[in-house]
Amino acid sequence: MTHKPRPRPDTPHYMTEDRRELQALARQFSHEVVLPIANELDPVEGDFPAHMVEQMADMGFFGILIPEEYGGLGLGVFEYCLVAEELSRAWMSVSGLLARGNGMGGGFSQEQEQRLLPKVATGEYLGAFALSEAEAGSDVANIQCRAEQDPDTGEWVITGTKMWCTYADQADYIILFARTSTDPDPAKRHRGISAFLLEKDRGTFPAGMTGTPARKIGYFGWKTWDLNFDGLRLPADAILGEQDRGFYQAVSGLEVGRAHTAARSIGLAQAALEDSVAYMKEREQFNHKLADFQHLRYKIADMAAKIEACRQLMYHVCTQIDTGARCDREAAMVKYLAAEMAEEVTSQAVQIHGGAGYTKDFAVERHWRDARLTKIFEGSSEIQMRIISDDILGRS
Ligand SMILES: Cc1cc2nc3c(=O)[nH]c(=O)nc-3n(C[C@H](O)[C@H](O)[C@H](O)COP(=O)(O)OP(=O)(O)OC[C@H]3O[C@@H](n4cnc5c(N)ncnc54)[C@H](O)[C@@H]3O)c2cc1C
Repeated sequence: MTHKPRPRPDTPHYMTEDRRELQALARQFSHEVVLPIANELDPVEGDFPAHMVEQMADMGFFGILIPEEYGGLGLGVFEYCLVAEELSRAWMSVSGLLARGNGMGGGFSQEQEQRLLPKVATGEYLGAFALSEAEAGSDVANIQCRAEQDPDTGEWVITGTKMWCTYADQADYIILFARTSTDPDPAKRHRGISAFLLEKDRGTFPAGMTGTPARKIGYFGWKTWDLNFDGLRLPADAILGEQDRGFYQAVSGLEVGRAHTAARSIGLAQAALEDSVAYMKEREQFNHKLADFQHLRYKIADMAAKIEACRQLMYHVCTQIDTGARCDREAAMVKYLAAEMAEEVTSQAVQIHGGAGYTKDFAVERHWRDARLTKIFEGSSEIQMRIISDDILGRS
């Protein structure tokens, strides 16, 4: 079957020349550098090679959202998500790594910004986020890990546990949430949580902190840690933002995280679609290419339409964020829809590949496993639905 797709209509106005150039750069890097690494390392659960992280740094990817005065690219969430989508087409973990730069939502003081952001922008200083605990996943306000101030030195002494801290070992700093006080009113558990900047040497854990890697089923390339704190000491000025107000810091700026996770979902779904199209044009059964079978053709149409719908909503959310317009409901919607779509599309891609799709020889199984995670982290699908329905109906 020979077929040349019709030329696309004029590029939409929001895809400026600069954006298209950035997208093309990320696409090329993703295809030429990340994809072979992902195909080799994901099946053996290997860690990202340092040279790949350095190349991302050289292209400025860790500083997309960081202002130019601190050495970043000074761009917006739109550009950040364009790059995230492209990286995810090769390996969702790498577009997760992108978020370990870019200030990770910050909360830094001006002094910390001046000291740290130039290093973050160059990838010299990458972070991890320790929010979740065994009993505080969706219910973030239930954090039990404690930070107590030593009255003699002013240092903060951390005791307790954290779960699911991705990149804790390789990160140069961890944004750690711990309880600094307990409000007597049980309805106000979200009060009394503070955020801390835990600076550490890359590749090690400091005294008073140990970790065990989680036995996860995907999102390879880096490890996700259960952490134990037994008297870890942090300097008095390690607190980020206002004491006891860490919950609000954790939930502020969630729109960016949701748009970014939507971009990740869209990228891996797009990869699964393209792999499926290529496979259907190659594989023959009943003396026909799979691409001749109407049922499979309709699957492709369905996958492509759903991906594009999510992508356009993501562009809208990014534009709203970049222009300072309110979009909490829409950000929850795109995170929810894109994650659900990615699971469905990648599952269809496995189906189109038949038995081959159920092996580690084809990337669709990786996309399928990774898509599954997008429904769970960064606020699960149920939590997004709760946000959307509360916004429409009011809280029950
Ligand atoms: C691979 C991986 C990497 C991660 N990386 C990080 C990281 O770097 N840093 C970090 O802090 N965390 C990280 N997380 C944690 C992640 O954010 C949590 O897993 C997520 O918030 C869900 O929490 P939970 O696992 O405790 O599930 P639970 O909160 O126990 O939820 C279980 C189920 O109940 C549903 N549910 C919960 N509450 C409600 C409700 N009110 N209404 C309806 N349904 C509800 C959930 O949607 C889910 O389906 C990671 C998780 C994974 C799996």
